[in-house]
Amino acid sequence: MSPRPALPSSVHAPLPVLGREVLVPLVTGGEVGYAALDYAASAPALQRVWDDVASYAPYYGSVHRGAGYLSQLSTDLFEQSRATVAEFLGCRPGDQVIFTRSTTDSLNLLAAAVPAGTSVFVFETEHHASLLPWRQADVTYLGAPRTPAQAVATLDRALAARALAARAADGPALVCVTGASNVTGELWPVRELAAAAHAHGARIVLDAAQLAPHHPVDIAELDVDWVAFSGHKLYAPFGSGVLAGRADWLRAAEPYLAGGGASRRVARSADGGVDVDWHTTAARHEAGSPNVIGAYAIASACRALTEAGFDLLVEREQALVARVRAGLAEVPEVRVLSLFGDDAPRVGVVSFVVEGWNSSHFAAALSAEYGIGVRDGLFCAHPLLRTLLGAADQEPGECGAPEAAPGELPDPSAGGAPTLNAIRVSFGAGTPDEHVERFVDAVRELVSDGAKWRYRTEDGRCVPDRDQA
Ligand code: PLP
Repeated sequence: MSPRPALPSSVHAPLPVLGREVLVPLVTGGEVGYAALDYAASAPALQRVWDDVASYAPYYGSVHRGAGYLSQLSTDLFEQSRATVAEFLGCRPGDQVIFTRSTTDSLNLLAAAVPAGTSVFVFETEHHASLLPWRQADVTYLGAPRTPAQAVATLDRALAARALAARAADGPALVCVTGASNVTGELWPVRELAAAAHAHGARIVLDAAQLAPHHPVDIAELDVDWVAFSGHKLYAPFGSGVLAGRADWLRAAEPYLAGGGASRRVARSADGGVDVDWHTTAARHEAGSPNVIGAYAIASACRALTEAGFDLLVEREQALVARVRAGLAEVPEVRVLSLFGDDAPRVGVVSFVVEGWNSSHFAAALSAEYGIGVRDGLFCAHPLLRTLLGAADQEPGECGAPEAAPGELPDPSAGGAPTLNAIRVSFGAGTPDEHVERFVDAVRELVSDGAKWRYRTEDGRCVPDRDQA
């Protein structure tokens, strides 16, 4: 084994997050501090976010509707949170910030708001939240590019072909791209894709679910039309998300949800129905009682990341990425999944497969024997995983592993256990160096020595066999 390169002295200590003192039982006996390495699914709450929410909680009141002091305070806090998010994203004058439930919700909102006849362009490599909401529109699915430049060229060609086919290219067009892949962690060339889209008169929405927690996102500087992200991946797990960007399509669209808060005036009409005058502000798409705690939590996270110095957080995370990748590279049985190759810039998300191991088995052993929480499966990006795994004929369960037959898993040391899905390790601003070191050591040990426990599949999940003494 080559000498381990020390992690560069941390330029920034990890930001305090909830759960850092939680102990979990090991199947082999004893307890260990939980190593949360599934940030790409949901990141732990920042302590600062939790504290801010706790300080506000006694003052919680109804938003927009109440005459009381706490209602007014809560309304102010909700609107201030909107302004904080706008600042965090570098919004342009006139941009709207709409609070939603999540990235999925934000992209579905935009999909419902695109003008009739809009052509949508989306890479097949996207997360399902970006891939699927456009089915009512005329969608072109673009093939998986193998370099960032190829991504830009592919989009450029597709938009040019549309212009030729439509001759005058009258209808609107929208491109949907991810900022950072939830599978490979690789950064997509957002600025260049935006330039290509705009050169053809198309608009672009950035799925920043994986970018915003790891990297500053500046809507004006990237020159994207909209940005979507989720609070629970940005250390603010209180059920809220954001869609921010150009107001015109949103203002012209039917409200996403019809109801109170979205309507300015409602009256019975002469024909026996109702006439509705809808708001033209963000409230148009925020019907119902707003999630003020969720909005405030996101704003608190935005402030915390900014005040900590986002660039320093990025620098520290990059050291962790380098450590994980170097550690995995030392194990010949491990294959790290990548679209754009080793040199591509990436965030703290790394997916891999281990020769001879079922990924669910490997992830279960990391949890049960080392207290490490990673994810296994196809990560709600089935077409991308099929490309990366070269497995065209899999039938995966939604967001998870292919259905496994119940029963005992084959011993990987006997060889031949199929690799049907992948393992993903992901981390961020709250991850201590020790978690990454423990992960790298555990991978090496599992591959060389095998699992210490027996595992079974139950309800499609791999679990430690309770019968083992
Ligand atoms: N986009 C990407 C790139 C993601 O990784 C995810 C979630 O993992 C989503 C969208 C959907 O986010 P949410 O589940 O918060 O709606």
